[in-house]
Amino acid sequence: MSDGYPTAERDDVTMSEDIPYESIHCPHCGTTFAERTDACPQCDFSLATLDAQMPPPPLQAGPVNDWAGVLTAEDAQRLIQKCQAIHQAAQAELSVVTVETTTPLKPAEYVFWLANHWDMGGPENRGLLILLALHERRIESEVGYGLEPLLSDVESELIIQEHVVPYLHAGQYAEGLYQAVNALGQALGVKHKATTRKRWRDRFV
Ligand SMILES: [Zn+2]
Repeated sequence: MSDGYPTAERDDVTMSEDIPYESIHCPHCGTTFAERTDACPQCDFSLATLDAQMPPPPLQAGPVNDWAGVLTAEDAQRLIQKCQAIHQAAQAELSVVTVETTTPLKPAEYVFWLANHWDMGGPENRGLLILLALHERRIESEVGYGLEPLLSDVESELIIQEHVVPYLHAGQYAEGLYQAVNALGQALGVKHKATTRKRWRDRFV
């Protein structure tokens, strides 16, 4: 874990389909809680805490925002196409951001801050933002409220840990980000299909 790209150390996590909301956690202190609130019950952190430390957030340029300049045009195009395919298949808006550093914020705070200001995934909040922070050697994701029944923050972290971190260790940022989008998109697609099918079944039986 010491050579970078750690994810949260949680060994008590299982991939349960029944308890997605238990994984809501504070980007500042890491406390997990069951219900979404405007401010963390533990440390009183809120979006306003971050706004006070940051300039207005940059505009979102679509699915790929490579501010650290780690992607070639081909890499970016491949990512954009994958994000568009996932949008069609799972009604989920995925977006990728790369930054040199998230200072003065922690990476987990930065991705929370951007995802909230970008209002990703439309009114239903079906957005998922993936952040690569080079200096901090972190990859973080923020799952929109509307997708959490399909994919919790913790599940997202586990998927990234398994499918993506090995590429980042090897310095393969483009491939790591592609695998992140691909694996998260697959997880969302499978669950989305299952819930859509269930809805139809409920309606007709
Ligand atoms: Zn907190």
